Amino acid sequence: MEKCIEEIGSGMFGSSVFNESVMQERLPKATYKKLKKTISEGLPLDQDVAEVVACVLKDWAVEKGATHYTHWFQPMTGITAEKHDSFISPTDDGRAIMEFSGKELIKGEPDASSFPSGGLRATFEARGYTAWDCTSPAFVKDGTLYIPTAFCSYTGEALDLKTPLLKSMEAISKQALRILRLFGDTTSKKVVTTMGPEQEYFLVDKEYFLKRKDLIYTGRTLFGAKPPKGQELEDHYFGNLKQRVSDFMHDLDVELWKLGVTAKTKHNEVAPAQHEMAPVFGTTNIATDHNQLTMEIMKKVADKHGLACLLHEKPFAGVNGSGKHNNWSMSTSDGKNLLDPGKTPVDNAQFLVFLAATIKAVDEYADLLRSSVATAGNDHRLGANEAPPAIMSIFLGEELTNVIEQIETGVAKNNGNSRTLEIGVTTLPVLPKDTTDRNRTSPFAFTGNKFEFRSVGSSQSIAAPNFVVNTIVAETLSQIADRLEKASDFQAEVNAVVKEIFKNHKRIIFNGNNYSEEWVAEAARRGLPNLKSTVDAIPALIADKNIKVFEKHGVLTPTESQSRYEIQLEGYVKTVRIEALTMVEMVKRQILPASMSYVKQVADTVASLNAAGADSKSAKGALDKLVALTSSLSANADTLSDLVDHLDDHTGESLEHAKAYKEKVIPLMDSLRADADKLETMVDANLWPMPTYGDLLFKV
Ligand code: ADP
Ligand code: MG
Repeated sequence: MEKCIEEIGSGMFGSSVFNESVMQERLPKATYKKLKKTISEGLPLDQDVAEVVACVLKDWAVEKGATHYTHWFQPMTGITAEKHDSFISPTDDGRAIMEFSGKELIKGEPDASSFPSGGLRATFEARGYTAWDCTSPAFVKDGTLYIPTAFCSYTGEALDLKTPLLKSMEAISKQALRILRLFGDTTSKKVVTTMGPEQEYFLVDKEYFLKRKDLIYTGRTLFGAKPPKGQELEDHYFGNLKQRVSDFMHDLDVELWKLGVTAKTKHNEVAPAQHEMAPVFGTTNIATDHNQLTMEIMKKVADKHGLACLLHEKPFAGVNGSGKHNNWSMSTSDGKNLLDPGKTPVDNAQFLVFLAATIKAVDEYADLLRSSVATAGNDHRLGANEAPPAIMSIFLGEELTNVIEQIETGVAKNNGNSRTLEIGVTTLPVLPKDTTDRNRTSPFAFTGNKFEFRSVGSSQSIAAPNFVVNTIVAETLSQIADRLEKASDFQAEVNAVVKEIFKNHKRIIFNGNNYSEEWVAEAARRGLPNLKSTVDAIPALIADKNIKVFEKHGVLTPTESQSRYEIQLEGYVKTVRIEALTMVEMVKRQILPASMSYVKQVADTVASLNAAGADSKSAKGALDKLVALTSSLSANADTLSDLVDHLDDHTGESLEHAKAYKEKVIPLMDSLRADADKLETMVDANLWPMPTYGDLLFKV
């Protein structure tokens, strides 16, 4: 066992990463020191340092088998992008040497014109550039050196998800430090946000996957009758792993460990064929890069095992969808978790300030938070009878809620003891970390020393949800700091601020069942927004207060906010359009032909029965139903196809376009599916043109 741990520790883990220990070992001392300072203090990198690092980095990568390098970036497609260049440089005497300069390390110039820019492009040239993000380590994968980078236009607008994330981390660090200084912390150099994203996914047999055009084109099933068994027996969650799944998970761990991804927990999830992987948390920026890598490696490893990994938020109707539980906290550079209540009155007071800031932020920017997880895929989870709902609220648990109520009213009510709970003087009751009342239905749950944002979709990048959380908490921290810095009596002001926030924002706290009808009604009474779909949620991106908060903290300019609004709407339309067209194709070329063959068989049977003078009533009944369904299916497919053509010829304003897709296209897709799914239960199984839900969910 020990040997095994040692091998992972020294041999395998991070073996493909240009990490801290490699840098320390290989870089000249002075360069190492300068680079470290650049990374930890966010300083600009100087050219001489870059030259030395590039040279060492290239030698290291070549030893690892690399022949190429790429600037790895995260355009607003939600996935990563890369363009490979070799290290080869021809010499005059016909040979070639391996070369890599500091300039090539710190800056790349990919053509930006084919990436989503939401209209930004109209205002500048097509050129874009990538800039080395030295806070996230480079790594070697598939014979290529990957250099994590930010992606911007030539005029400086961010064209990616990483730039605003990095800026939001600077913003929250600046504001959190102001608070820490007031509490007497003189040593922390910065505050980082920490992130542990739990990734849910499905595994299906690759052969079946390849026989389903819907899975290939859209990542989810657009048709499929319910199988006799679903998730009702609750026999999958934490169940033992099938051999193939276990082998996949093992390989996945190894591949991720090599890349420095701290894959930690793995288990079966609630739905059949659904699983989860959680890493050990890290700095949000690196965790975001690692989550992108995780999704990519999951697909690759699955493929090697004859499986297909589905990352879509709702691959199957009728069983649970997949999310990404975004575990978020703030930590000092010395590793002190700011959402840990601590044991002394002073620590408690500081914790309550950071807690209050988070509560206020979620309440005031619930709409913006909701918009950060708004995609066509996630609409099938949020606001669609599945956890968590589209209404943003915070779960604090009974103990902490009690504390807050005591602070707010100034009266302690536990133990029959009537002392007042005075912030900074009395010690908080110890809050249990893993309480039995852990609430699995809340979109934003406090789990002892961190918040878990559960609305994030399984396939989306975690960058946007995180830059939103970071920015809105930076804002509330800055408001609190403004007050505390001016206060003559610090402790009294802490008391007043926290009390006021709990009083004014307690409507966002809800510890009950978030799936219930009662909560929807209660939330409406409390005035909380219920933005059910992407189309309802996205306009928040250009609400005045939201544009302002991004601008104030230097995370997005108003132009960038506007462009992201356009991109998200465009993305929605494109997704639904591809789904609609895939449905039309599957109906016309697969489902209708199969159904028609069966109609003919049944019609022949009716004729034979009649000719033989036998009772043909039941066969005739089946025939009538089949004919009615096929006619309706065929007519709806034509209507859907015409509708999509029509909408695309009449592209108006993006929000109107997206609304038309939601209000007209999606209902027609639903009718198409209803007819086809009924046909699936009637048509001869041997004629049905694609694997069924039973095949996909149970035959791995
Ligand atoms: P759960 O019961 O929800 O699975 P865990 O304690 O296992 O809770 O944590 C789930 C995820 O939260 C893991 O990825 C873990 O690394 C991460 N996590 C734990 N502490 C923090 C923290 N302070 N900041 C961010 N993420 C954290
Ligand atoms: Mg969890």
